Amino acid sequence: MHFESLNIIEPILRSLKEEGYTIPTPIQSEAIPVVLEGSDLIGCAQTGTGKTAAFAVPILQHLYNNKTFEKKRKIRSLVVTPTRELAIQIEESFKSYGRYTGLTYTVVFGGVNQNPQTNALRSGVDILIATPGRLLDLMNQGYISLKDVEIFVLDEADRMLDMGFIHDVRKIISSLPQKRQSLFFSATMPPEIVRLAGSIVNKPVKVEVTPSASTVDIINQYVYFIDKGNKNAMLIELLKDKMIKTALVFTRTKFGADKVVKVLQKKNISAEAIHGNKAQNARQRALANFKAQKTRVLVATDIAARGIDVDDLEYVINYEIPNITETYVHRIGRTGRAGANGTAISFCDGEEMAYLNDIERLINKKIQVVEGHPYPLTEFPVVNMPKQPRINSFGRRRTLFPDRRNVRR
Ligand code: AMP
Repeated sequence: MHFESLNIIEPILRSLKEEGYTIPTPIQSEAIPVVLEGSDLIGCAQTGTGKTAAFAVPILQHLYNNKTFEKKRKIRSLVVTPTRELAIQIEESFKSYGRYTGLTYTVVFGGVNQNPQTNALRSGVDILIATPGRLLDLMNQGYISLKDVEIFVLDEADRMLDMGFIHDVRKIISSLPQKRQSLFFSATMPPEIVRLAGSIVNKPVKVEVTPSASTVDIINQYVYFIDKGNKNAMLIELLKDKMIKTALVFTRTKFGADKVVKVLQKKNISAEAIHGNKAQNARQRALANFKAQKTRVLVATDIAARGIDVDDLEYVINYEIPNITETYVHRIGRTGRAGANGTAISFCDGEEMAYLNDIERLINKKIQVVEGHPYPLTEFPVVNMPKQPRINSFGRRRTLFPDRRNVRR
């Protein structure tokens, strides 16, 4: 199936072509017709599935086909998303897909001076992308009115819950017109999220691309059992492999992220950190450098685990195993996006075994253990180690790094 068969109008088709999109991803081919018809939608989709275009394309088409001719544009579509990075990325997607539509967009998020945002709002926009806190703030200051919103999108709803935004989200919803179209997206659907969805959508069509929290199948996943104190050395060892052009490394804490960056920089490996203690500008800069491959390693806390879209990112390294199981799926979903190759490596120390077991239960899959590496686990009785399919990292290629060529399946 091609985009043409989804009845997408020419100005949008043209920009999709320029983006290099020819075939809609499953969430796009399922969601776009539903949204174009005007139905509410609950979309349950894992990361990297093309979810943004699944809502952005039909929104652009609806607004374009139903143009208003008022002097000052009113906010006719609102997208609320949990993190600043996601908000910026969604606006970029609207800009790309909508570049021949003449529609206008802006993005608002916290942590930066509000003046440029209020200036943009003053001139009027058709589509607003926002994080919940700044949106409410600007609504309270009278810069934003939601009374003309025709299509509302709540993105990454489960993440909103994790980040404690549910209260804010409810307030935002109460300011929306009763008559509207609502699109609700979440990677997972725990009961609280199902309840929240119920309060937002009306007779929704449910689109579920893959079972919630299933790991992207094409991602190769490996685990190294290792003592906590050797993780830096192992990371440096892995990064000797020139095949790793860039890697996104996840740590559990901000402090941990900064520490890993220092260790790598000492070894002349270019690395930057991205986490909540960094100023917004510094975070954007770090991300831009990484995307441009000026920085080889980006060390992130889970703030970056969702939605960060780095083209051709092949390697994700979990320096620490996440203690929230779903986070694993979101972290590794940064790689293998839109059908590309992906490899996820996790360092697991003795204390993290329980987290690993939970993750394997969630993804319903055993992660391959890499053996024969220089820093085997000593601080945990081996008899208690979970039974895993094992591979030897010193295969034909004599590399520490397992890839498809030296993994026996
Ligand atoms: P998303 O899940 O929306 O963050 O999209 C993940 C990645 O897939 C992004 O890099 C998009 O640019 C890309 N993408 C989305 N839809 C398509 C498509 N139909 N064909 C090729 N790439 C796509």
